[in-house]
Amino acid sequence: MPTHQGHEKWFYTMEKPDLRVKKGGFVKTKTLFSCLVLFFGIFFLTQTASSGQPQTSFDYDVLIKGGKVYDGSLNPPFQADIAIKGDRIVRIARSFPGTASTVINAKGVYITPGFIDLHSHVDDGMYFPENRACLNYLFQGVTTVIVGQCGSSAWPIFEKAEDMIKRWSEEGIGPNLALLVGHGTVRQLVIGMENREPTPEEMEKMKALVKEAMEHGAYGLSTGLIYLPGSFAKTDEVLELVKVVRPYGGIYHTHIRNEREKLLEAVKEAIEISEKAGVPSHISHFKVMGKENWGLVKEACSLIEAARERGLEITADQYPYQFSSGYPYQSLVPRSVWLGGEAGNMLNREDIEKIFEHLGDSELIDLYKKVTPYIPLTDRHQKFLNELPRKRLTSLVGRTLMSLQDFQGPENERERMLFLKRMSSPEEAKKIREAVRKNIEENGTENFIIGICVEKNLEGKSLAQAAASKGKSIEDTAIELELMGTKCIPLQMGEEDIEYIIKKDYVGTGSDGTATFYGIGLPHIRSYSTFLHKIKKYALERKAVTLAHAIRSQTSLPASIMNWDDRGWIKEGYKADIVVLDLNNLKIKTSISNPHMYSQGVKYLLVNGKVVITGGKYNGQLPGQVLKLKKS
Ligand SMILES: [Zn+2]
Repeated sequence: MPTHQGHEKWFYTMEKPDLRVKKGGFVKTKTLFSCLVLFFGIFFLTQTASSGQPQTSFDYDVLIKGGKVYDGSLNPPFQADIAIKGDRIVRIARSFPGTASTVINAKGVYITPGFIDLHSHVDDGMYFPENRACLNYLFQGVTTVIVGQCGSSAWPIFEKAEDMIKRWSEEGIGPNLALLVGHGTVRQLVIGMENREPTPEEMEKMKALVKEAMEHGAYGLSTGLIYLPGSFAKTDEVLELVKVVRPYGGIYHTHIRNEREKLLEAVKEAIEISEKAGVPSHISHFKVMGKENWGLVKEACSLIEAARERGLEITADQYPYQFSSGYPYQSLVPRSVWLGGEAGNMLNREDIEKIFEHLGDSELIDLYKKVTPYIPLTDRHQKFLNELPRKRLTSLVGRTLMSLQDFQGPENERERMLFLKRMSSPEEAKKIREAVRKNIEENGTENFIIGICVEKNLEGKSLAQAAASKGKSIEDTAIELELMGTKCIPLQMGEEDIEYIIKKDYVGTGSDGTATFYGIGLPHIRSYSTFLHKIKKYALERKAVTLAHAIRSQTSLPASIMNWDDRGWIKEGYKADIVVLDLNNLKIKTSISNPHMYSQGVKYLLVNGKVVITGGKYNGQLPGQVLKLKKS
């Protein structure tokens, strides 16, 4: 789920984008540090060259010798040397002579195609230069990500996409990026946030925007039918827009309308759209949430399989975790219970917007600056704010203010005092305890996991375990933890469902993560570990799938879903996106309470033939490219 607010369209201003990608891919940063990193990177690589003598010309650029190759198929691994020239794999054979400027010794480790993330929101974080490398993905072995997901082409409001893509291409990015155009973004531009059907003229405008995006290289359309304004759209509206991508050979990625009790209807809608539009439908982060709905995925899979039997291209992706969302933390005391009868006396967003009526535009913009210190206010951003209609400006500032965490709950002194006062009345306290218990029972006490807590020994334990160790009731434990600002994670997906889905040969891997700010905030651990966690937990430990199956699900399968014929396999002629994976040293270090830990196990990583991770360390290169469906 995208985290930015108030995004503008990225493509509508695109006229003649320059998407040429700079060859070589070295970082242009002229700091001494980068130079040193590059120097030592090259130094160490060349030290491993096969010839002891200085050589002026080599047969290949990179030789990976002696590794066991999982080529992307379900076949068992085979031993081979792999030669790379430029950005391509040029030779694969058991053993062959030849020299290379970089020789990687892969004895005892595995070679796989670079991992392809079918569902990612890294475009949110990659605006910021320090995130351009997407290190949390490179360290998972990811070489290509598909962005513009869940209906939101997440381009920041303060820069035109054409400028950004050009800059990304010139300055470099870590992994390759493929773009989708977001239906929600298109709709918001044409209709705003109004809950109604488009007029025929508006429909034409939306179609033109989707067409324009496809002309500029987008791979298809994404929807977020659970989010505003995507949820305002009826099936026909989406269908009309999906039809636009058909002549380009595009794809439809969808965050379906319901991932709970109405899962089946939502899956049917995705299938119907595919059938009527003649376009493949891809279901994002396929799952069912809520304990009472667990098991529904079996019927959903049957629907998909019946459609596939009929020749429709219906596929899905999955992240292998029991908890969801960019904001995984849930209150143990729900807001309605926390506020009780006081709810009517609390300021809400509408109140705040009313208060803002008394502020001038420039005062509102100043306030916005103060509450969003993480957004650098560029001239373009300032201009955007200056030109925002009054209503949208008050709404933007109000929304931003309301989303600040310490504005409500235990950290808000007034709310806290009122809550404690109610707890001192036996009658009120009884009501609160009952409501808290009801809230917890919906998930089950064993399915509430304590994420962040001042009592460190409780982190990672379930609420039931915490209550047992405290010798208190579940309700009192929950209230006590809430008051100390504990963050809890409800396990909304069933482990059995995860394993049922993971075995399907039409389900690829998608992290649904983002390019994180290292060390800042509490991102979902999927941003750091999805790909290696899937291999470690589900292939190596639980053996729910074979290693070849897990690797295929994040290499050749995503490539075939995206209709790519030059990535996703270890094959001669294919792009040299390659992981050298040390399964004996596979370590997932990220945890709910300490998410900012890179995964370990990727010994070497090549993106477009360029080594980016060498000996488990990032070397500063940014050889990723912005991929385009329509080549210009
Ligand atoms: Zn989504």
